Amino acid sequence: MQRHADTDLVVVSNRLPITLTETPSGYTYKPSAGGLATALSGLKEANFLWIGWPGAVVEEGVQKHIEEDLLREHRCMPVFLSNEQVEQFYNRFCNGVIWPLFHYLPEYTDFELVGWNYYQEVNELFANAVAEVAPPDATIWIHDYHLMLLPQLLRERLPDARIGFFLHIPFPSSEVYRLLPVRRQILTGLLGADVVGFHTYDYARHFRSACMRVLGYDAKPDMVDADGRPVQLVVAPIGIDPDRFVELARSTRTQMRLERLRSQFRSRRVILGVDRLDYSKGLTHKLRAFARFLQRHPEWRNRCVFLQVAVPSRTGVQRYKQLRREVEELVGHVNGLYSSVEHTPVHFLFQNVSPTTLSALYQLGDVCWVSSIRDGMNLVSQEYVVSQLEGDGVLVLSEFAGAAQILDGAILVNPWNVDQMADALREALEMPIEEREARLARMREKIYSNSSKAWAEKFLGIIRKHTEEVRAVPDRINLLRVLEDLTQACVQAEKRYFLLDYDGTLRPFAPTPQEAVPTPQVRELLNALASLPNTYVYVVSGRDQETLESWLGDLPIGLCAEHGVLFRDVGSREWQRLVHVSTDWFETVRPIMESYAQMTPGALVEKKSAALAWHFRRCDPDFGQWQANELAFHLASVVSNLPVEVIHGHKVIEVRAQGANKGALVRHLEKRWERDDFIFAIGDDATDEDMFQALQGRGWCCRLGRGPSAAAYYLERQADVMRVLNHLVRAVQGSPAEQVQG
Ligand code: UDP
Repeated sequence: MQRHADTDLVVVSNRLPITLTETPSGYTYKPSAGGLATALSGLKEANFLWIGWPGAVVEEGVQKHIEEDLLREHRCMPVFLSNEQVEQFYNRFCNGVIWPLFHYLPEYTDFELVGWNYYQEVNELFANAVAEVAPPDATIWIHDYHLMLLPQLLRERLPDARIGFFLHIPFPSSEVYRLLPVRRQILTGLLGADVVGFHTYDYARHFRSACMRVLGYDAKPDMVDADGRPVQLVVAPIGIDPDRFVELARSTRTQMRLERLRSQFRSRRVILGVDRLDYSKGLTHKLRAFARFLQRHPEWRNRCVFLQVAVPSRTGVQRYKQLRREVEELVGHVNGLYSSVEHTPVHFLFQNVSPTTLSALYQLGDVCWVSSIRDGMNLVSQEYVVSQLEGDGVLVLSEFAGAAQILDGAILVNPWNVDQMADALREALEMPIEEREARLARMREKIYSNSSKAWAEKFLGIIRKHTEEVRAVPDRINLLRVLEDLTQACVQAEKRYFLLDYDGTLRPFAPTPQEAVPTPQVRELLNALASLPNTYVYVVSGRDQETLESWLGDLPIGLCAEHGVLFRDVGSREWQRLVHVSTDWFETVRPIMESYAQMTPGALVEKKSAALAWHFRRCDPDFGQWQANELAFHLASVVSNLPVEVIHGHKVIEVRAQGANKGALVRHLEKRWERDDFIFAIGDDATDEDMFQALQGRGWCCRLGRGPSAAAYYLERQADVMRVLNHLVRAVQGSPAEQVQG
């Protein structure tokens, strides 16, 4: 398979917008007019390639042939799955674990390792398929919960690609999400994207909160900091193509169908429901509420019908068979109670209906009733509104459907509140015509301004804008891209100096500072580096003297504690002060920090020789940040006349004496440096900026993450630091260099 250099956009979803069917004369390809296919059909990126499963298990012998056909005729590239993969990946994991959990039904989830293994396997299959054909800098748009590992798998394979992900179902509260046994893996997979999109702000804030609580990442309201890589969160509710529905509604066939239906129901008002038969749709809730409505309002018993279309879905799955039985029993129960010889109150259709019939039903319905207990968006409600040509129908809509955020003319209901739903039906049936028209007009306007095409354009626009902004940091270069030059400079230099930050750079952050002890790999690396000829290694950290001494004191390296205040040179056991400052201000600042720590569970105050630090790594992420902001604000007014500065570090607010920063080490060492010496300084946060600034463009300065920095180079991930340093050790030792990739 060749790369499609002319492809502007690669769309990836579990299902292709084509259904493959085997017939005696070969395979046929039937395009499906799903919401996503409609949304993408009008895109400016005419050359897009769609990658996904074609909806049928195909023998290996004919796969090549089908692949060529689909590519030539539909610009679709199939990913073929086996029966076992479909069963385990799709039925077991996607629909047996993710679907119920993300719809707040953890008791319906059935997590088994085998399903998860297949989920990973199929995501890998998709990643290989995309990486094989996409240009290296392609824009790739991945859809939905089946492919949540794909963004990260693609980031590893195509580091320059612009990757967007859109979740079409709800993202649950972090309290529910954290029940998922593979919660870390799924979040890490998603955060491989540049942009992650959701239908509503609630889903986006749940996701952000899960990233903070499960992965310990920092986040702003619309951005997650994934190890220094900003991942943009987007709220973009999907729309429909209203013109298509209006056209269908006006067609002669639909109007004839509508006539027949109207004569059948004559003077009776119709309450319409159209849902897949899924437990997330609240069908049993509707039936109970309808019974309550008829019980309370006998005057409506013979004057209205509840016509529920239940589209068969996942019919082989036990849970769905059980739901069908339950719903049918309830239908029987309500009809048994309230039917008369002439009249049956509930009409229940367990079947697919044709587009013409659906459109006629949308026009027939005086009320459309959506009572999902959770629903990512709900398109039926939007389709009903635009299909109402006469413009006087009423929408009764669950507040738990994403559509409730857009359709502000609906009567919103809580499906768990039977009485409220019964009242809403009466309100809908008795609403004056002017109000009905006004509400419908308001909703129609919203739907037109947020059509599916506008939605797709908007999301793609954000992927482009975000990736351009992140990548347009002209003066910062990925260190991996200049690894050859770096290696050469290091190997050829007479003397080598390494200034290495510790936390977040040599060692990933741990829940408490004490847990971040150096791993054997870190110690081995430092030892190997310091053992190179004419090489001087300094670990320069915010940690105190005792900690550095006990963790690293036996190694042949220099140590610099408390951001440059205390120093132990290479080959010496003695510590010296690099900065002489007063600490009289401690007595002003310390009580303030202590009082904030008392009010904030998990916070702690650390006293250093020239600084006081307020740590909030172990606090609730939101509350910790909130209190940190308050503290910093409070301190700013108190310390304005003191010789100190307030620094915002990683989960720490630090007040330190002016001049007591990592630049002090540079100023101390630079007297020894000669012009051709190799100097390499690396760090990950604001406190390392003093070191980079003091170097004034000299040597190789590298800061983790792509954000603004005085360091000319960046690395994306902490793990890359170890790989680069190990690479340099090997290069100087003369052993064959290990492969280092982005
Ligand atoms: N629909 C369908 N066949 C039918 C009845 C409805 O395909 O017999 C369509 C309907 O037009 C709508 C979709 O199914 O576009 C349902 O989408 P929604 O977002 O309401 O719920 P989902 O099924 O995606 O959870």
